Amino acid sequence: MSAPFRFDNTYARLPEAFFARQEPEPVPEPGWIAFNESMAESLGLDAHRLGQDDGLKIFSGNRVPDGAQPLAMAYAGHQFGHFVPRLGDGRAILLGEVIDRQDRRRDIQLKGSGPTPFSRAGDGRSALGPVLREYLVSEAMHALGIPTTRALAAVTTGQTVYRDRPLPGAILTRTAASHVRVGTFQYFAARGDNQAVRTLGRYVIDRHYPQCNQASPWLALLEAVLERQASLVARWMQTGFIHGVMNTDNMSIAGETIDYGPCAFMDRFDPATVFSSIDHQGRYAWANQAPIAQWNLARLAESLVGVMDEDGLDAPTEANRVLETFPDRFQAHWLAGMRRKLGLTTEEPGDAGMVDELLDLLHRSSADFTNAFRALADAPDDDRAGAFRAELNRPELADEWLQSWRRRLAREAVEDTRRGDAMRAASPAFIPRNHLIEQAISGAVESSDYSLFNELRQVLARPFTDQPGKDDFARPPEPHERVYQTFCGT
Ligand code: AMP
Ligand code: MG
Repeated sequence: MSAPFRFDNTYARLPEAFFARQEPEPVPEPGWIAFNESMAESLGLDAHRLGQDDGLKIFSGNRVPDGAQPLAMAYAGHQFGHFVPRLGDGRAILLGEVIDRQDRRRDIQLKGSGPTPFSRAGDGRSALGPVLREYLVSEAMHALGIPTTRALAAVTTGQTVYRDRPLPGAILTRTAASHVRVGTFQYFAARGDNQAVRTLGRYVIDRHYPQCNQASPWLALLEAVLERQASLVARWMQTGFIHGVMNTDNMSIAGETIDYGPCAFMDRFDPATVFSSIDHQGRYAWANQAPIAQWNLARLAESLVGVMDEDGLDAPTEANRVLETFPDRFQAHWLAGMRRKLGLTTEEPGDAGMVDELLDLLHRSSADFTNAFRALADAPDDDRAGAFRAELNRPELADEWLQSWRRRLAREAVEDTRRGDAMRAASPAFIPRNHLIEQAISGAVESSDYSLFNELRQVLARPFTDQPGKDDFARPPEPHERVYQTFCGT
């Protein structure tokens, strides 16, 4: 029998200081929650076999598949602004890497598979709720077209884990372009180990940014990571996503969304929205995500300054010059995406102001972010603008804005139906609504009922398509359903 994975493990060939070799710890009674068969196929895996008992053993950590070289990665990170020199994979184990059907290298990682040398006081385990949340939200993110780690499988362990109360344990198998983070660079830079920073930098350039193999590779790398983050955060904000823990250890060098802890999508639009129960200052609020990304990138720049100096560059000046491009790059991505949401195909100087006025209107009239943008696709025609107005609790505030938007649309020669389709392709009907995720989790945790989890998986796989009979999944929460906080502790 051939192996279900064809591993080719480049990270495991890096120097020993980069990780700790660690096998998953077996669990008593594994049970299936979900297997992402179509993704397994696109990864070039033996999907049929992995969907059966072999897969259950592997995804629960009870069997290490042939060719895997399990390890826990070392990294540091700024958590809510405070530097922690040694974090690392405390509850995750990288099994190895595979090359997918599109020739992209993907990490295969178990999350919640037992203690590692980086576990500190933690148990190395995950509770069921956070596993379900990451499964649903990361797959929804992918369907929304936003770069992200993905979910290959989820299993229960038959073990109880203790958080604020006893909970069923679970393991998520996720895939990523890689698990190198800003914090991985910080780990070595904080030790003054420039040799390791170089090795890591070269690894990252080879794996993610081959175009940076040039005269000043470190500046080029900084710029390339910055560009991907500017694009990523703009995409998040355009779907109302709030990451919740944008610590430097949770910022992927490859530019994917990673670590779905206390994340959530906004319902009613308010730029100050925060969900994380531990984010008391609003550090990671919706509107703060761009400046925070730039702050995190400054920590990456600092980690690279030592090797740039050795290359004879005026490192601080050069690095700052790159960092200072972030606001403009972010703004360019933001505006390009918002133009799509407004149905615009050309650029005019007044567009940014028009976007700000619309957001202000949505805020002042407590509109549901997702549904208001979705309804806007019909609003160029005043006879069909009722659905948009109905999203606003003060619809009269919309008149002036709608008029100026329509005057702007009239300066473009785009046919209404085509524009409507383009707008719907930029503004989803379905996002993973927090109250539904919480209901899906409580069904599973309290009564092993996975029906809502499974239905959400299906609906959220086609977020841009109107789905008859699924209106409940597009409805914002009633007051009694509202979720104000989400918790970490995956
Ligand atoms: P996070 O807030 O999820 O990004 O995790 C921050 C750090 O805490 C990482 O180093 C994790 O590996 C570690 N960690 C979180 N939960 C656990 C746990 N249950 N057991 C061991 N380490 C953990
Ligand atoms: Mg993390």
